Amino acid sequence: MSNIAEYWKNYIDNQWADGGSERLSIENPATGGHLAWQALANRQDTARAVSAAKACHESGALSAMRPVERGRLIRQMGEWLLDHVEEIANILCLEQGKQLWEAKNEATNCARYYEYYGNQVETLEGKSIPLGQNYLDFTIYEPYGVSAQIIPWNFPLEISARSIAAGIATANACVVKSPELAPLSSQYLARAAEAVGLPKGALNLICGLGDEAGAALSEHGDVNQMVFTGSLATGIRIAASAAQNIVPCVLELGGKSAAIVSSDADLDNFIKSLRAGIFTNSGQVCSAMSRAIVHEDIHDEVVERAVELAQSISVGPGIERTQPGLNMGAMINKNQRDKAEAFCQRAGHDGARIVTGGHRLNHHGSFLQPTIIDKVDPAGELGQTEVFGPVISIMKYQSENQAIEIANGTQYGLVGGIFTRDLDRAMNTARKLRAGQIFVNEWFAGGVETPFGGYGKSGYGREKGREALSNYIQTKNVAIRL
Ligand code: NAD
Repeated sequence: MSNIAEYWKNYIDNQWADGGSERLSIENPATGGHLAWQALANRQDTARAVSAAKACHESGALSAMRPVERGRLIRQMGEWLLDHVEEIANILCLEQGKQLWEAKNEATNCARYYEYYGNQVETLEGKSIPLGQNYLDFTIYEPYGVSAQIIPWNFPLEISARSIAAGIATANACVVKSPELAPLSSQYLARAAEAVGLPKGALNLICGLGDEAGAALSEHGDVNQMVFTGSLATGIRIAASAAQNIVPCVLELGGKSAAIVSSDADLDNFIKSLRAGIFTNSGQVCSAMSRAIVHEDIHDEVVERAVELAQSISVGPGIERTQPGLNMGAMINKNQRDKAEAFCQRAGHDGARIVTGGHRLNHHGSFLQPTIIDKVDPAGELGQTEVFGPVISIMKYQSENQAIEIANGTQYGLVGGIFTRDLDRAMNTARKLRAGQIFVNEWFAGGVETPFGGYGKSGYGREKGREALSNYIQTKNVAIRL
């Protein structure tokens, strides 16, 4: 079913625009069929979007506005999105593969960023520094100017919203490069801006290929700040472009995050978290629980219960999966599905054992079975590499130090978790885990309000929460001799 528009445009300088690189066919991952056409931006379109944002910034249309007004506009964008949640979720589900109920959650969470950052705008205050009676000194915070934001396909709405809302809250004009595999639903972000009358050029949305529009955007000399969410390989390129232009850059990259499951853990609770942690969005989550490091005393029981869970999950087209429950949709495309399946098939080379799953479904869409792999070598390929699919690696530990060493033993450090009834143990582990966010007894605890970002090669800078705002502002000190 696809009663959706056949052609989707970009949004540049408050105009709906065709793409200089023609059109891209967007696939429905649940069927493998064509869903709609997306206008594809080229380098010139990207440059036009950057100059629109620059003109907006220089006009003061955003930065000279009284913060209460800017905050209201941002909140109104969120309200507009909430009014269109059903429509947006339907498109997100069809283009991305996730279940309709997960798509609805994403569209709702996307609106929440506008509420949260809209509310923050008025609270951003400078400060005065005492220099004695002959001076008045104060520090103010100013926007960088043009914020370039490059978005991945796994949560296109939430990830765009967290950067756009924080960017505009701090009066930066934004150019957003939506992901070429799932760009359609993002158009609603621009429609929201249009509906509430956001100033011309304040939000520009382009879809283009990574090595064309993405590269053009990240290399552009008029971009003043960048936020990149995506893979480590692309992150390295973005960081190099940022270095060339001496612009600050937030990198939100991949992960290989581990849950440590102590012998005293509440296993019902852990299994609930495991479901969310690795089977949400078919495991295509940067902060997925992709490893479970389990105490030897409870290892067999955990494996048995994880298998029972995985086998009870109904996998199929997301559009038919309307209610929260034990179900899972498609992966983004066959390429991604095949890569994840190949990881499973190679797991045995390192002595691991697939206890359930590991294969594609016999179906036109790009589905992979929920997969549990035991006896994974922490140092082997599966123990080290991000699969980005519904595949959890289970490892056994004896001592707490050993568990922490395994958890910290990858190049990443996005999130980590501990399941235990012992608060001292939880705190001790939380201190020792090298990751930007630690979950105790609930994977994905936290929210829009809590800072998110990585240690190590998971990136730098933070998104979400008030903390994120510091990435979008620069400090100016004014010292007055009285
Ligand atoms: P990707 O790096 O392939 O693509 C991400 C974005 O970068 C896309 O919009 C793409 O078009 C663009 N891009 C690609 N090449 C580019 C280039 N040379 N210059 C500029 N832009 C370019 O990543 P992906 O496959 O879309 O996403 C999956 C990865 O993203 C995973 O590693 C995942 O862990 C990570 N991720 C991280 C977070 C986080 O918040 N830390 C969130 C979601 C996804």
